[in-house]
Amino acid sequence: MSKYLSLAKFSFGMGDRFAHQGKAQLHACVLATQLGADVVPVWNKSNREHQFIGTEPASLRAEADDAVKVLGWNKPYHVDADHIRLETVDRFVAPSDFFTIDVADTIGKPAAAADVQAFVKCHPELTGALAIPHLDHPLNIAPAEVERVANKFLLAVQDAGKIYRHIAQAKGVPNFITEVSMDETDSPQTPHELLIILAALADEKIPLQTVAPKFTGRFNKGVDYVGDLKQFEKEFNEDLAVIAFAIRQYGLPPTLKLSVHSGSDKFSIYEPMRRALKRFNAGVHIKTAGTTWLEELIGLAEAGGDGLDIAREIYAYAINHVDEFCAPYASVIDIDKRQLPSAAAVNAWSSAQFVAALRHDQKNPGYNPSFRQLLHVSYKVAANMGDRYYHALKKHEAVIAKNVTENLFERHIKPLFLEGPQPTHAAPRCQTVAA
Ligand SMILES: [Zn+2]
Repeated sequence: MSKYLSLAKFSFGMGDRFAHQGKAQLHACVLATQLGADVVPVWNKSNREHQFIGTEPASLRAEADDAVKVLGWNKPYHVDADHIRLETVDRFVAPSDFFTIDVADTIGKPAAAADVQAFVKCHPELTGALAIPHLDHPLNIAPAEVERVANKFLLAVQDAGKIYRHIAQAKGVPNFITEVSMDETDSPQTPHELLIILAALADEKIPLQTVAPKFTGRFNKGVDYVGDLKQFEKEFNEDLAVIAFAIRQYGLPPTLKLSVHSGSDKFSIYEPMRRALKRFNAGVHIKTAGTTWLEELIGLAEAGGDGLDIAREIYAYAINHVDEFCAPYASVIDIDKRQLPSAAAVNAWSSAQFVAALRHDQKNPGYNPSFRQLLHVSYKVAANMGDRYYHALKKHEAVIAKNVTENLFERHIKPLFLEGPQPTHAAPRCQTVAA
């Protein structure tokens, strides 16, 4: 396997659609470090996000470098070309050092029959009783099952190989991190499918460091996990066992770990995840994005005045375009339209009411997950406001930054990476980052 830039055990992906929260986001990692958790920040932005906002990938690099400089961050950090494909990767090559190769579209399309046969022949170790440490039972995969899985995933894996080699060639040196994502597809991948996929990715000689499967249950945008927690925990543990095995069996990078996309706000799975990671001494990459955009809105609403006006206006526009905004996200949101307040009602809300409805605090009786999900998918409205929105972000930077940092640190990094109850007297306060 060729040389590659290696990724730390724990890494945290932070999307920042409007590119104003880099410092506030990094501040959350600084707080983690102060409490003894080394969490490497990764700024991620997909091609789709760049298109919606009208930004170039180089702007994300500039934002990350600036945040790092201002806060004096002297540990690693990365810039992730999120969900790229062969058609979209080129403008990401220079500014990025982390590439999330999205092969979801090719899943299910059959590879050449000869390739499938060759794969099955090459991997007799996959069939029969395969004892994998930490799995309750040996895997017992029939040859026909290896063939079925190869038919479903081999073309996608070959696609990943093509895109990886394209990036490696364009960058000249393979000094980057490679992730392969399969999360934006219909059905979750089971642990034994993941093993077969990893064998195929190793055959492609991809120095894979993170892999983003689709997990069981629903990972809706910006809200908690919906699904069978026991089943999730079981499969998450099995995925970790399979990855540890595949690293040894196929010579994949020892840093290979799971990447959890739509990883923000999944509060109910963080504890089972942390247990599993500890059990396997495994790392993880968590990818978040929209949760920070929602904190911008919360900050604007909390600021009151023109900030609250903007937040109300965005909602009023969104509620009038519900179907249009929700359609592209149908598989990752569950909005109960009956729970959506009218624009008139929201226009009469106070700052506190707007914040209570939007902030992800399930104990607050005002919290409204349908309201939150609709705003999650409505960031285009803010993009269309242009300068007016950006001016408001600058004007209300302090209150927004406080919300952005607190959300990432208190609600995400702490439960995921810091064990047990925190000594409150020793914990640094979440302060606003100086501009
Ligand atoms: Zn994803």
